[in-house]
Amino acid sequence: MVFDRERKGQPPTESDLPAIDAQGWLLGAPRRPSPNCDARPPDTLIDLLVIHSISLPPGDFAGHWIDDLFMNRLDPHAHPYFASIAGTPVSAHLLIRRDGQPIQYVSFERRAWHAGVSSFQGRERCNDYSIGVELEGTETTPFTDAQYRILAACTLSLRARYPAITPERICGHSDIAAGRKTDPGPAFDWRRYRELSRSSSAGGPTPSRTHP
Ligand SMILES: [Zn+2]
Repeated sequence: MVFDRERKGQPPTESDLPAIDAQGWLLGAPRRPSPNCDARPPDTLIDLLVIHSISLPPGDFAGHWIDDLFMNRLDPHAHPYFASIAGTPVSAHLLIRRDGQPIQYVSFERRAWHAGVSSFQGRERCNDYSIGVELEGTETTPFTDAQYRILAACTLSLRARYPAITPERICGHSDIAAGRKTDPGPAFDWRRYRELSRSSSAGGPTPSRTHP
């Protein structure tokens, strides 16, 4: 599995697609298991992908603070903003940093705590049945080429593993928590992302190579 974060502007090819192991972890991505997760309700079909954006403190892309937040070790005194969020048990399945590096905190098979109070097409509790991906960024700063590329590659891998995640069932946090959340925000170029993650660009979602 190759995470090619350098090539720009081209859709991912099949060889770019990261494999997902039988336990729901991306091969080749650092794993930092977050305690902020639990089992999905029995027999839940995973059929929604939610895109978020986050940076800590807002607009700062250099630190380890997102890791700290997801691992429940954020120092509330390290920055004035942190006092308001430290101790909040949250997580996402995946974070894609500015350089395109993906980091996984929760197995896709388990329920990460990313959506909060939410509803998709009238169905509540999106955490139950969704996968949450955070892009490091702000709602008004352009995301990087590497982030689009890796997000598209991960999307194709996830769709191959969880085919109920159709293109129509990929949305932003703002779409499922309207009035409460505004991420990923206007800087996220949905058209570009959807072009890059079109299944035809990689010859169709490929079956996971490590899972039946
Ligand atoms: Zn969000």
